[in-house]
Amino acid sequence: MTKSYYAGMDLDAPCGRCKQETRHRVVTITDGVPLDLICMSCNSKHKFRAEKPVSLSTPRAPRIAAPRAASGGSQFQRLMIEEQGGASSRPYAVATRFEEGQWLDHPSFGLGRVMKRLGKKVDVLFKDGLKTLVNG
Ligand SMILES: [Zn+2]
Repeated sequence: MTKSYYAGMDLDAPCGRCKQETRHRVVTITDGVPLDLICMSCNSKHKFRAEKPVSLSTPRAPRIAAPRAASGGSQFQRLMIEEQGGASSRPYAVATRFEEGQWLDHPSFGLGRVMKRLGKKVDVLFKDGLKTLVNG
């Protein structure tokens, strides 16, 4: 859609001084678009604004950081720092019995902390999460 403008024409445009849409007279045309207008109500000259001045202060919902569930990874990190798991770990082997609170170095899962022992199984917290291993 093309609207043709010409100098001297009247058009309705928002006037910043009148704070409303008023009748304007086009003073200058640039590239077929009104550049300067004169408000017929307040006689002020101003730039042509194609759109009504809209409030830019659109209220945006505050971004609430979703509380991240305590993942196995963060718990692992915390424990590793607290207990210096890297320093006290022993290479993992099924035959090597590990007890609660001990650290092991698993060939596939890496460093892990024994969280719980249940018979022949241990729950080990690795960086990727809790895993149950047969041990002892
Ligand atoms: Zn005006």
